[in-house]
Amino acid sequence: MSKSAGHEVSTACPLDCPDSCSLSVSLSDGRVVALDGGHANPVTAGYICGKVRRFGERMYGPDRLLRPGFRLGPPGSGEFRWVSWEEALARVAEAMREARGRWGAESVLPYCYGGSNGLLTQDTTDARVFRRFGASRLARTLCASTTGAANQALYGKMPSVTYADYTHARLIVIWGANPSASGIHLVPFVREAQRSGARLVVVDPRATPLARLADLHLAVRPGTDVAVALALHRHLFENGLADDAFLAARATGAGRLRERAREWTFERAGSVAGVEPGAIAALAGMYAAASPAVIRCGWGLERNRNGGNAAAAILALPAVAGKFGVRGGGYTLSNSGSWGITKSWIGADEPPTRLVNMNHLGRMLTGPVDPPVKVLFVYNCNPLATVPHQNLVRKGLERDDLTTIVFDQVMTDTARYADIVLPATTFLEQYDFARAYGPISLQMVRPVVDAVGEARPNVDVFAELEERLGLGQPDEPRDELEMMLRVIDGLPEGVGEAVRDDAPAAPPFGTAPVQFVDVFPRTPDGKVHLFPEELDRQAPLGLYTYQPDPATDRHPLALISPSNEKAISSSLYELTRKTAVLTIHPDDAHAREITEGDTIRVFNDLGTVTCHASLSPVVRPGTVVLPKGLWTRHTLNGSTANALTPDTLTDLGAGACFNDARVQVERVAGASDRVSAAAVNPVETPAPGPIH
Ligand code: SF4
Repeated sequence: MSKSAGHEVSTACPLDCPDSCSLSVSLSDGRVVALDGGHANPVTAGYICGKVRRFGERMYGPDRLLRPGFRLGPPGSGEFRWVSWEEALARVAEAMREARGRWGAESVLPYCYGGSNGLLTQDTTDARVFRRFGASRLARTLCASTTGAANQALYGKMPSVTYADYTHARLIVIWGANPSASGIHLVPFVREAQRSGARLVVVDPRATPLARLADLHLAVRPGTDVAVALALHRHLFENGLADDAFLAARATGAGRLRERAREWTFERAGSVAGVEPGAIAALAGMYAAASPAVIRCGWGLERNRNGGNAAAAILALPAVAGKFGVRGGGYTLSNSGSWGITKSWIGADEPPTRLVNMNHLGRMLTGPVDPPVKVLFVYNCNPLATVPHQNLVRKGLERDDLTTIVFDQVMTDTARYADIVLPATTFLEQYDFARAYGPISLQMVRPVVDAVGEARPNVDVFAELEERLGLGQPDEPRDELEMMLRVIDGLPEGVGEAVRDDAPAAPPFGTAPVQFVDVFPRTPDGKVHLFPEELDRQAPLGLYTYQPDPATDRHPLALISPSNEKAISSSLYELTRKTAVLTIHPDDAHAREITEGDTIRVFNDLGTVTCHASLSPVVRPGTVVLPKGLWTRHTLNGSTANALTPDTLTDLGAGACFNDARVQVERVAGASDRVSAAAVNPVETPAPGPIH
C-alpha cells in the first residue's frame, strides 16, 4: 500500500451490500479524491454504485466526527465539548463499571448492526469485551433474520445461485428485491439473460426498474407474497407438475406443504394479494415449464407479519417444481454462510445473559425492564433512523439516567443524543475483510489513507476499553493488525492465505456452485425440509399460513420503506439534502385532493411524518412509499418512516415488520404555499408498550 499523491490504489467495499466490490481509489496529497470499481472481484467489472462513489464526501464532509466529545446541550442537540481519547474512554469505562456495580452487567446494552459488514469491525474485540463484561446480548434481527430462519430450516442455508449463473436461466423471478438500487451487479446478468431469450417476472408492490422490463409484473399488496407462493404450490401439486421423484429422494414434508397449499386457488390468492388471478396463473405456467428457472428471493418480502411464511413458501418452490441440478436453476438468498466461517477469533464464549431483540430498543429504553438499560453503547449503527417505533426510541434516548455512547464515523441522528461520542475510521482508513453475500467472494480491505482527525478503528478501541475494564488476557490480539492475522488464521483452510495474498479465494465447491450438484442442503439428513416442525410451532398460525392485513378504516394505506440508490440503510444518506417525498398512486392522491409537491402529513397512532408528495403509478394503489434510512433532516418534522412502523415481530425469526405500517395521508399545504410551524406536527412520544 502506498499513500503518496496522485495515483490509484486498490481495496474492497465491506459495506452492507450483497456485492462486495473491488475498488480503485484515486488519491491526491494523501486524500481520497475519487472511487470507482476495480476488477479483482470479477462481478464488480469496473463499476460501483453512485453512493460509494461519493464516499469521500462522508470522509471529509461537515458531518464527520473528528475527535471524541462529551455532550453539552440537551439530548438531540448535537452540541459537544471535544475531549481526548484518554478522557473519553476513561468515562466510558467508569459508566460501565458504575452500571454493573449498581444494576448488574446486563444493564449495559451493546447495540450494533451493519454499518460496516466487514469481519473486523464487528464480532472481534467488541464481542470479546462485552461477553467478558457480561453485558446484555443483542439479537440482530433488523434484516435477514426472517428469510434466514426459513432458509436455515428448509436448506440449512445451502449456498445460492450466484449472479453470473443467471445468464444460464430461461426464467428469472425477482421476488421482493430491487437490484437496481441494492446489489446492482445482478442487473447486467439479468439483462444478458433476457437478451438470450430468458423471461423475467418481478413480484413487488412497485414497478421497479426491472419490473418495467419484465414479461410479467405482479404488483402484490405488501405482506401477501405467501398467498401467491402457496397458489403456485397448489398448481404444481394439483396438476401433476410437482417433481415427485425429487421430492421422494431429496425432500421431506412435501405432503404437509401440499395440504396447507390446497386452499390457495388462484382466485383466493389474487383476492388477497390484489392481483389478477390470471397473472398468478401465468407465473405458475411459466415457472412449471421453464428450466433452468431461478428465483431471487429478496428481503422486501420478509418485513411483515407473514414474512417468514412467505420466505419458506418461496424457497420451497424450486424443490417442489424440480428446478435444482442445472446451472442457473434454483434460488438465491444470502451467500454469507457459504464460507462456513465460525468467528473462532472472538476468543470469549457467549455468556447466557439477557438477549435483547434489537427491534425492541424503544421498549427496552422506556419500559419496565429488569435490570433497566443504564448504558447503551451504539456502534456500526444509527438506531434512531433505522429501528421501528422511532418515537419510542427517541424518548428512550432522552432519558436523563441513561448513558449513551455512540462510536461512529459521522454525527448521526443517534450520535446527537449521545453523552459520549467516539470517532471511528471508515473502511478507507483501516483494515477489514469484505465478504459478499450475493456473489461468493472474500477480499482484504486495506487502508488507503491515514485516519481523518483522531478517528480510530473499532478493533483498537474495544481492545483498549477491555484493558481499562481489567478484562484483557495475555497473548491475544490488541489491535487491528494482530486481529487481522487472527482472522486470517481462523478462516477455512487455504482461504486466509489467498485473501492475504490478494489471490482469488474460494470455498471447496468454488464460487459458482450448482445447487444439488456442487452443494446440497446443510440439514442433518442432507434433505430439503419442506415442513420443518420448528417453524410450524413458531409461526403464530402455523407454517404456510396467512395473517390478514392490519389496515383499518382510519389507516388504510400500506406504507413500505424500501432501500434506494441514495444510501445503504441510513449510511451515506447524510449526503442527500433534499426533503423526502412520499410516493403515492395518483388515484390515492386525488381521493385526498393531493397534488404533486404538496406538503402532506403521513400518520398513524405511532407518529407523523411531514414531507412532500410525489404522485406516481410506479406504486400500486393502496400502498405508499417512503425511503428506508432517511435522517431526521430529510423531513419537515424530524420524523421518518420508522416513526410509523410498529415494533411487532415477523412470524418467523423475530424480524422487523417495517412494511406492516398502515397509515393515512392528508394534505397540509400546496406546493408553493408557506407552511406554518403549527402545521408541521411536533414529534409524538407515545407510551411504551409491554416487553414481549
Ligand atoms: S455498496 Fe455495493 S455496489 Fe456499492 S461499492 Fe459497495 S459493494 Fe459495490
